[in-house]
Amino acid sequence: MVVCYYMSSALCLAALFRASTADPGRLPVDPHIPHSEREHWELCNKCNLMRPKRSHHCSRCGHCVRRMDHHCPWINNCVGEDNHWLFLQLCLYTQVLSLFTLVLDFCQYYYFQPLTGMDQEKFTTRHELALLRVSAFMGMVMFGGMASLFYTQMTGVLSDTTTIEKMAQFSNDACGSKRSWQWALAEVCGTRWKLLWLLPLRVRQPLHASHLFRTHVIWKPL
Ligand SMILES: [Zn+2]
Ligand SMILES: [Zn+2]
Repeated sequence: MVVCYYMSSALCLAALFRASTADPGRLPVDPHIPHSEREHWELCNKCNLMRPKRSHHCSRCGHCVRRMDHHCPWINNCVGEDNHWLFLQLCLYTQVLSLFTLVLDFCQYYYFQPLTGMDQEKFTTRHELALLRVSAFMGMVMFGGMASLFYTQMTGVLSDTTTIEKMAQFSNDACGSKRSWQWALAEVCGTRWKLLWLLPLRVRQPLHASHLFRTHVIWKPL
């Protein structure tokens, strides 16, 4: 249990670090647009650059991001095509850690504390109880918040709709929800290996297959 706790802590920190520092899918100044995809590109009226459809201009970061989901103030970065998988991992590991907190608080309160037969009036015992309650409260708030966020994120991934598109009441029928959950997650994480979906320390390679159009930009060779 202790090993699992340290492992999920390390994975959570790695996901947090990578999600906040990774490039969310910023558009290059001079992208090479394949001829067959030209009709799927448009001009951003804020930064005056060409971008694939479903990109969004982030006013906080001041640039366009491919398939942008939202700008997350917690990681101080956009969540877009290239770091969405890291954001999902961060949500997942935060949930795991808050669950650990709740389980450990429960064990301490109902199992270990009665065993030691501590005096309830003692100063240290009173403070330990107060800390336990604060920790359990934080665990519940964190778990509830992260679980609902993870749920909305997953429904978005499975129906291929970003948070921005949901808010704009826009449903892209062409990209609809005809994909299986395995394919939807494989596309977001950039690999079909399910174990790799959980690892934050790797490089995402976009999958190109039976996609209607590719949103990933090919950099012009210098
Ligand atoms: Zn823009
Ligand atoms: Zn942003």
